[in-house]
Amino acid sequence: MDLMLHNTLTRQRERFTPGDPARVTMYVCGPTVYNYVHIGNARPPVVFGLLADLLRRRYPGVLYARNITDVDDKINAAAKAAGVPIGTITGRYTTAYRDDMGALGVAPPDLEPHATAHIPQIVAMIERLIASGNAYAAEGHVLFAVASFPEYGRLSRRSTDEMLAGARVEVAPYKRDPGDFVLWKPSPEDLPGWESPWGRGRPGWHIECSAMSEARLGETIDIHAGGIDLTFPHHENEIAQSTCAHGGRTFARYWLHNGLLNFEGRKMSKSLGNVTLVHDLVRQHPPEALRLALLSAHYRQPLDWTDGLIEQSVRTLDRLYATLAELVDVEVDAARAPLPASVEAALCDDLNTPIALAEIARLAGEARKADGPAARAARKGELLAAGRLLGLLQQDPVAWAAQFTRGTVVDAVAIEALIERRRDAKQARDFAAADAIRVQLRDMGVLIEDTPQGVRWKLARDGATPGPA
Ligand SMILES: [Zn+2]
Repeated sequence: MDLMLHNTLTRQRERFTPGDPARVTMYVCGPTVYNYVHIGNARPPVVFGLLADLLRRRYPGVLYARNITDVDDKINAAAKAAGVPIGTITGRYTTAYRDDMGALGVAPPDLEPHATAHIPQIVAMIERLIASGNAYAAEGHVLFAVASFPEYGRLSRRSTDEMLAGARVEVAPYKRDPGDFVLWKPSPEDLPGWESPWGRGRPGWHIECSAMSEARLGETIDIHAGGIDLTFPHHENEIAQSTCAHGGRTFARYWLHNGLLNFEGRKMSKSLGNVTLVHDLVRQHPPEALRLALLSAHYRQPLDWTDGLIEQSVRTLDRLYATLAELVDVEVDAARAPLPASVEAALCDDLNTPIALAEIARLAGEARKADGPAARAARKGELLAAGRLLGLLQQDPVAWAAQFTRGTVVDAVAIEALIERRRDAKQARDFAAADAIRVQLRDMGVLIEDTPQGVRWKLARDGATPGPA
């Protein structure tokens, strides 16, 4: 089965063929670590992490790098505001980023290069660009001369005028051309800096990715990916730097870009507020539902991020886990279960996750109808294998059902404790206390039922009973 990917460089769907099938290389632009990340910044790690997993199924060696930008003016500003060294800010938010991505089911990349750990490589690349006539030093700055690279603008397909407008270029006396961009800039004493042939300074953002990609993956890589907002100027500049530093050899063979999240359609929710930080969202919703929501649209399309989307994703997982709960008596070796061909076909079609998810829903329907142990085991295996590749459905279905209600985390232990107290109250013939506990549970979104086998409880997510006002 061919893997088809849409290449931004050619605006075509292309069959993916790696330069070296034994060493497939992918670089994804990672976060600038000065704050908690926005849910929109989680889309690239989720979708391109899925691509890395898909590549690993097909090729023996995959090297996936996702960088950390840990020197930047926004980091400097945050450190100054807090009165701490930049390392305190970058350390804190790098850890938070890893934790938040982990909560969304994103596996760590193979390589996580940090910009500050690659200053010698950055300086060396800038020296090469000066030597080749593609860059020049002026007043403590080093600038890339865009006029020296005729292909400049090919990725974003912009005219020079559009590029100048899009980059909001700074007109500076030391620039030969307003479109020239910074590779190195001087640092005053109160800002982080490194000694260089051009004086004490710090790198520009674009050169960091070019240098880290070369240092960790090599001159020509298979896939370079990131958000569509990075196409220009960041990726355009990366191509210019890397191609010129590599004597004209190709930098990245396939360029993939994800669409952005759209918050305009978002209804303000009184209980949740307009929450958009992953750090907060994963504490208010089942993180797996957030992951499903991010995968619910094709990665190249914009995604309307609304409370309704999250709610719908929770309900979808409810149904899928309910199916798995019905199959709880069937033993399957989930790690060995074959991936359904229909799901693989959808993902090989430029990561068509909406079709893959529709296939999973169809498989769940078949699983509910399956008769006999062999058929039930086969359907359960398919469901778990498809879920594993997408980073879904790997929880205990009973734990899933007990964990959440109405988008708020509910403590199953606390529910059980209340049910026990109610039983004690009834045994003591304190019916007022027992009824009060029933009301308390209802307000938590928990419905209870007295049966001959004891008390059963379920979540009233879709019921009419809301939680406390
Ligand atoms: Zn980058």
